[in-house]
Amino acid sequence: MEKIMEIGMPRALLFYTYYPFWHGFFTGLGVKVVLSDATTKKTMSEGAALVVSETCLPIKVYAGHILNLIEKGVKKIFVPSVQSIAPKIYNCSKIRGLPDIIRNVIKADFEMVEATYDKSEKHQGLYEFLKEAASYFGITDMSIIKSAARNGQKVSNNFRLMASMGVPYLKALKLALDNKVIMPSEKKNYPINIAVIAHGYNLYDEQVSMRILDKLESMNVGTRTAELLSEEQMREGISSMGSKLYWANELEITGAAAHYIQDSKTDGLIAINAFGCGPDSLMIERISRFAKGKNKPFLNLSIDEHTGEAGFITRIEAFTDMLIRRKNILSKKSADEQNLAEHDFQEGAISEEILAGIKNNL
Ligand code: SF4
Repeated sequence: MEKIMEIGMPRALLFYTYYPFWHGFFTGLGVKVVLSDATTKKTMSEGAALVVSETCLPIKVYAGHILNLIEKGVKKIFVPSVQSIAPKIYNCSKIRGLPDIIRNVIKADFEMVEATYDKSEKHQGLYEFLKEAASYFGITDMSIIKSAARNGQKVSNNFRLMASMGVPYLKALKLALDNKVIMPSEKKNYPINIAVIAHGYNLYDEQVSMRILDKLESMNVGTRTAELLSEEQMREGISSMGSKLYWANELEITGAAAHYIQDSKTDGLIAINAFGCGPDSLMIERISRFAKGKNKPFLNLSIDEHTGEAGFITRIEAFTDMLIRRKNILSKKSADEQNLAEHDFQEGAISEEILAGIKNNL
């Protein structure tokens, strides 16, 4: 029987970290990639209906995307188990156990391409992972697999370069997939800048994040994200908090937050975290304390499938107003201090002159 050379890719979870690579890899193998549609309310509610209510929103969204691919008639769907990305650095149990979750909640006629990446227990690195994924299409030749991996790496590098230079995430993704690279136009100056801290799957899924980045832009607020930072800057951030890397996605949360908390050009931070996420609740608590110690305003927004947009926007607007008022007060205080210092200096100079005159007249 002829092998189906098509793979369904759920537009959820690790898609937001690895899709440029995965797309480049599978197309390099000659496999057509079918992407699920952008998340809608229907994706969320259908996914949420499949899992227990305490499950975090990103898993519900993921399940909804699998349903969408099944509806499209895709027979093979990529559901990897990314356990550990480096020795002793792990993903959360839900990301690790993704194929088992999907197998248990979705009973339909499709095959999961469930390659495992595990650098801790199984010592299964990138090539073993890719070999396993390619085997679902009957491809075992390592030279073909390595060449497809190089293709994936090229797309991924182009994407990361543009994202790190400030090209908006979804635009950078589209350009990289078309094998194009552009650099952003000149940077705009904003009255205030806010760092938005969230996992890629919460921030760049426009339904989940309710387009927070666009909303801030429309309020004339500059935004900063983890993509603008190097891995080294995020690692330094974690160390400066006296913390150690444990979770695979901790760099984009703790590392980025710690960096921006100490950045004088960042006026405040907004974190978006999924209700029911164990790792996030620990990381956010630590970040919140660190921000308090550094006197940096910090707002945490917890989301689930019931989060209403109106309340979400009200909180962002109130936080932004507070930051503007705070910045005005701080600049006025600093200007007053400056005037006072100059005044003191001038007074000091006059006194010296008077003193000299008195001395001369003696
Ligand atoms: S890290 Fe948190 S939000 Fe993300 S999949 Fe795991 S439990 Fe859910």
